[in-house]
Amino acid sequence: MTPLGDALRARIARTGPISIAEYMADCLMHPIHGYYATRDPFGRAGDFITAPEISQMFGELVGLALVQSWLDQGAPDHITLAELGPGRGTLMADALRATQRVPGFHAALRVHFVETSPVLRAAQATAVPDAQWHDRIDTLPDAPLFLIANEFFDALPIRQFIRDGSEWRERVIGLDGDALAFGQSEPAPLAFLAHRLSDTKDGDLIEVCPALPGIIQDIGQRISTYGGAALIIDYGDWQSQGDTLQALAGHAHADPLENPGQADLTAHVDFAAIARAASPARFTRLTTQGVFLERLGITQRAQALAHNLTDEAQEIHIAAHRRLTHPSEMGDLFKVIGIYPVTAPPPPGLDP
Ligand code: SAH
Repeated sequence: MTPLGDALRARIARTGPISIAEYMADCLMHPIHGYYATRDPFGRAGDFITAPEISQMFGELVGLALVQSWLDQGAPDHITLAELGPGRGTLMADALRATQRVPGFHAALRVHFVETSPVLRAAQATAVPDAQWHDRIDTLPDAPLFLIANEFFDALPIRQFIRDGSEWRERVIGLDGDALAFGQSEPAPLAFLAHRLSDTKDGDLIEVCPALPGIIQDIGQRISTYGGAALIIDYGDWQSQGDTLQALAGHAHADPLENPGQADLTAHVDFAAIARAASPARFTRLTTQGVFLERLGITQRAQALAHNLTDEAQEIHIAAHRRLTHPSEMGDLFKVIGIYPVTAPPPPGLDP
């Protein structure tokens, strides 16, 4: 057991089982022992690799898509270019480089990062020195908001509920002897899950991300009031269905209860929950990452870049293109949804 595991077991022994959300919050963001709070988890030597770390094309195309939305809305001055959970800052650095020559864009924008991990803030400062940092989204300036979130929402803590008649049991973490173990609470009728009684049956497990609605409402309000657009990219589907809590360590699946704080914990994103919270802004249809990137011209960009590469570098580049777009790799598993004002067209690559 890790030091965090010892602390969690002592706490559960004292005060009883905890929700999966409480467990995830401590494992990921505990100030001393949390996974993100203490390390840079990306890349070959780390635990997982994300789209912007696979290829520069990802950030470039996302940046150009946001520029198109900015142009569609009359190229407003004093805008916020924001990213939630920017990791190493790679996506934003690639987006800024790709949009350098767009007249007026860089003069109009200020980069704002929402990030809680001190280790990753330091990496982001190297990639994008002029950024401003926030702990939470609600301190962003009141201005047109052009926002990207890639693999941010999957890192937010979730709760799991199992249907029992017309009531719900919460899946919790308690103790089995000395070890952390999953258990279930007594059933209760939960008003905030009423909308899931129509599409689930007895025994089904669903997941809820408590922090998600507030964050999306904030984005929707800003975009509706000041203009802008948001691109939210993550793995998941329209409605959560089943247990998707997953632990990754050293690029391999791990037991989520095994080494608290030492593995990345994620859950699939419920995009219907994003759509429900976006009002008064509009949301786009859910689109797969592969289709989105193809529509933005990733194949042409890949061919242009391939010209300057030879041998192994060219092979890596071709494999990266495939990895981002192919249905059997990230292409279908990852989805994109856009949020945009009622007065503007949807971001490019996405359907209303
Ligand atoms: N977008 C990046 C990193 C994804 S990993 C990429 O694609 O490579 C998740 C990121 O979200 C990390 O930067 C992590 O530190 C950050 N994060 C996780 N929970 C957060 C929270 N509650 N508030 C702010 N940032 C958070």
